[in-house]
Amino acid sequence: MSLTVVGSVALDTVETPLGKVEEALGGAAVYFSLAASHFTPINLVGVVGEDFPEEHVQLLASRDINLDGLERADGKTFRWTARYHDDVNDRDTLDTQLNVLESFQPKLSDAGKQAPYLFLANIHPGLQLDVLEQSKPKFVGLDSMNLWIDITPDLLKQVLGKVDCLVINDAEARQLTNEHNLPVAARQIHELGPKTVIIKKGEHGCLLFSADGKTFAAPALPLDRVVDPTGAGDTFAGGFMGYIAEQGNTEWETMKKAIVHGTVLASFTCESFGPDSLAAVSREDIARRVAQFETLTRF
Ligand code: AMP
Repeated sequence: MSLTVVGSVALDTVETPLGKVEEALGGAAVYFSLAASHFTPINLVGVVGEDFPEEHVQLLASRDINLDGLERADGKTFRWTARYHDDVNDRDTLDTQLNVLESFQPKLSDAGKQAPYLFLANIHPGLQLDVLEQSKPKFVGLDSMNLWIDITPDLLKQVLGKVDCLVINDAEARQLTNEHNLPVAARQIHELGPKTVIIKKGEHGCLLFSADGKTFAAPALPLDRVVDPTGAGDTFAGGFMGYIAEQGNTEWETMKKAIVHGTVLASFTCESFGPDSLAAVSREDIARRVAQFETLTRF
């Protein structure tokens, strides 16, 4: 079953202990779509400027990502610059230039509206609400960030009241709930709306919580070389939602397998600058790492 994602399409400049890349293809919707495209038809809704290189459009199209909802607006593409510390779980955002994202009004294409699965990647919660008014999907996932928790908490709470699943990192879960303990924070988030809560903990993996009290924990795949973790969280979300959309249900057993597939895809993203390694992965590569994950966690 098909899936729609609404989110940023970016040109990223990133420095890590292993090197630097300038103006690489990036953005939450890009990493998400590339990951989900391994499992299910995906519609990308976003905006780029006149300067967005055609080769990036070609790369997305080559993965059969439906780009009817990718608007080309007058002005420059969203740009994001970050530097990672030696501990790559830590990064500083050096510059954010919203450019065409500033006046973005997401419009779902017909395919985008009809998709039974929807993911609202990290954009202004007001825009996330607009998107929710354009379609009636059967399962909606949401991402957000510290900025929106800080400056638009009421709007964000409105969005939370309308979605099924929140994918958030540990620091944001604590900030949103004022609660340090993650299982307790997850329970508080269930009360705000989402029946499913996923708390990401960077290289320490993630936790999945259901509102009826079930918990599942998955480590990250240990990697010898983390070249650039940019987009790992969005890739994880794309793998998770893509797998669920492919299976066509949100049973607990499916969710657990979706978490493993999201984790595996995120591991590929960390192995190169930009989304190159993610885009080059085959379904066989994914299956091999899922098997590796099983060996890692079975006892
Ligand atoms: P992640 O590493 O999963 O947090 O995702 C990083 C990606 O999110 C990069 O490709 C950025 O272009 C994009 N990004 C960073 N900041 C923002 C923002 N304020 N709004 C939308 N997308 C962003």
